[in-house]
Amino acid sequence: MHYTLSNLIQINKKIKDKINELSISEYNPKVIAVSKTFTEEDIMPLIEYGHCEFGENKVQEAQKKWPILKEKNENLKLHMLGKLQTNKVKNALEIFDYLHSLDSLKLANKISKEMHKNSKKIKIFIQINLGGEKQKSGIEPSDLEEFYKHCLELKLDIIGTMCIPPENQDPKFFFKDLSQLNQKINLSEISMGMTNDYLDALEYRSTYLRIGTAIFGKRFK
Ligand SMILES: *Cc1c(COP(=O)(O)O)cnc(C)c1O
Repeated sequence: MHYTLSNLIQINKKIKDKINELSISEYNPKVIAVSKTFTEEDIMPLIEYGHCEFGENKVQEAQKKWPILKEKNENLKLHMLGKLQTNKVKNALEIFDYLHSLDSLKLANKISKEMHKNSKKIKIFIQINLGGEKQKSGIEPSDLEEFYKHCLELKLDIIGTMCIPPENQDPKFFFKDLSQLNQKINLSEISMGMTNDYLDALEYRSTYLRIGTAIFGKRFK
């Protein structure tokens, strides 16, 4: 068995055990296999096994890797996780099914325009800057309700919120905040939890775990 597949199987088992331990019924969070910098050789074993959710953080890299794979496997869903520049929106809509990083009005306006021009659909998470970090993207928690309203006016398909907690701090604090914000605007999906903290994210009902390193190994690029 290829190591990416045995890694994924182990992760799925850990998630199942954790959910049993928490005794939450009818809870089926999805694992997004974050394949940025990795090639088809490492991705194929997962597709053949039946895994459907994959994530990338660059439009150009996704355009090189995914069109053929998606053509051959119509159940595949591709998630854009990284910062999206407005000049790449058109290309992003062609290849991605989900965007996890809606972080500004300018981007929201552009997506709305392109979506309606090309009748493309994309499901969207609003990225929240919970740590108040200047260098990180995202909507401020206090601006969320108004931003969300604006997105609805633009007819964007907003399904949830997303966060990347600051490094070297307890992620649980941020997961709790995000799940409360998500409830406040009544959204059903939450994108949080990565290699180092995906089991913690389950305690706060994350519905999309974004896992790269634990599946594919260390990235060298
Ligand atoms: C790369 C990336 C991940 C995956 O991170 P790992 O720590 O390797 O699991 C998750 N989310 C985003 C936004 C990323 O860019």
